[in-house]
Amino acid sequence: MERVRFAPSPTGPLHIGGLRTALFNCLYARKLGGSFILRVEDTDQNRKVDNSEQYIHDSLTWCGIEPDEDPIKGGEYGPYRQSERRKLYETFIQQLIDSGGAYYAFDTAEDLASAREKDEKEKGGFKYNALNRHLFANSLNSTEEETAKRVGEGDAVVRLKVDADQVVMSSDLVRGNIRVNTSELEDKILMKKDGMPTYHFANVVDDHLMKITTVIRGEEWLPSLPIHQLLYNAFGWEAPKFMHLPLILNPSGKGKLSKRDGDKNGYPVFPIQWNETMGYKEAGFLPEAHLNYIAQLGWSPKGNNEIMTLRDMEGAFDVAEIQKGGARFDYEKAKWINQQHLNRLSAEEIIERYPVQTKKLRDKFGKEAPEIVDLIKERLVLVNDLEETTRCFVEDPVNYDEKALIRIQKIDKKKVGSLVKKSLENSEIINLKEAFIKAGDENDIGLGAFMQVTRIAVVGSLSGPDLFELLKFIGKDVTLRRLDQLINKQ
Ligand code: GLU
Repeated sequence: MERVRFAPSPTGPLHIGGLRTALFNCLYARKLGGSFILRVEDTDQNRKVDNSEQYIHDSLTWCGIEPDEDPIKGGEYGPYRQSERRKLYETFIQQLIDSGGAYYAFDTAEDLASAREKDEKEKGGFKYNALNRHLFANSLNSTEEETAKRVGEGDAVVRLKVDADQVVMSSDLVRGNIRVNTSELEDKILMKKDGMPTYHFANVVDDHLMKITTVIRGEEWLPSLPIHQLLYNAFGWEAPKFMHLPLILNPSGKGKLSKRDGDKNGYPVFPIQWNETMGYKEAGFLPEAHLNYIAQLGWSPKGNNEIMTLRDMEGAFDVAEIQKGGARFDYEKAKWINQQHLNRLSAEEIIERYPVQTKKLRDKFGKEAPEIVDLIKERLVLVNDLEETTRCFVEDPVNYDEKALIRIQKIDKKKVGSLVKKSLENSEIINLKEAFIKAGDENDIGLGAFMQVTRIAVVGSLSGPDLFELLKFIGKDVTLRRLDQLINKQ
């Protein structure tokens, strides 16, 4: 059975890239009937940010992505927080040291810094590896007593022993076979002096112990793949399959999408609010629409199925359709997809899911509220448009759109206004159009003038839902009051 995991580090909020990784893991598991695991990689206690694990959890909940195993609900392979798995890492690091796959290093930060400075000047870069490890303070150059003493004093890190000039072979489901020469790699630190494992070590040990079959993560982790492969080899474990998802680029295609881009150009990069920064939820996106959009950042599903629910995506997901090249973020597209999803919801569903945004409407119209939502539904791009697009049903306009007033400046507002009022007084709203036409014929005024003046009086602008439908809901008295307001406006 396939087992995949989303393994975020709780170092801040989840951004679009992280959520996409979670989504693709979930889609992959659901498509193949496997399990989707959430593992919190919190071994770097210095970078840990409070609330961030809770935030990750809340974001996934908002999106409807539910792991089968996670730190809260547990599972057969727990604990699912790496900080609670220290004992396990100790056992495995010892195994690696005993087999010669890893060694202790005692270098001081100062020694390493000066070696780095020297090599950067002379060789253009520094690597702690097979070519120079004999120059450093480590267990490979020390007596057993010395090593035992330094280890006992808590003064040792553990490094992976990478042989010189070997080819590491690994493979990626999107990119195919990947060959790297070990001379390009470093003897990475696997365990720090405080006994905490580093990302590489904990990640590989846990993927093995949690029986992960496929690792799906962002392309920024591709350079770590050879190190991970070497760790699997050193333990004699079979490596999982790997799939590295393409980078998410900013709209210009130059560089990775960043929070700064979002702030500058006015779009969110987090799923839900993080401190003062609003997320997609607060910006008025449906979670299913947000997921639908981010799924397209790197996945081009075959056929004409651009608009998909999470269930649809679970059925359609196909690794062969994942692209290699970076995916350019497009906020307009994200909004368009949201609009399509909103349009597919029934008015009743919209009201049920967004009681706050439809409160005034429900208070005023009760059972008729869904009919009104149906009238305006196709004009909704964001959930937050609900209040604005239904405002004319519940409130008189407070001011008038300047451009709209300019459009009707040639029309004699007083005259047309009083003819509209007369038509209203003498006929039912369902016959109002005919009444306008008749009054227009008698006074040589086109129907358009009647419609425009009435619309501006009632809505405050020239946009809005079908005018006669709107008037039916607000009734004659309110319409007359709003007409007076416009006519009397200076
Ligand atoms: N903890 C890593 C991260 O924050 C996980 C990378 C991986 O999936 O291997 O993204």
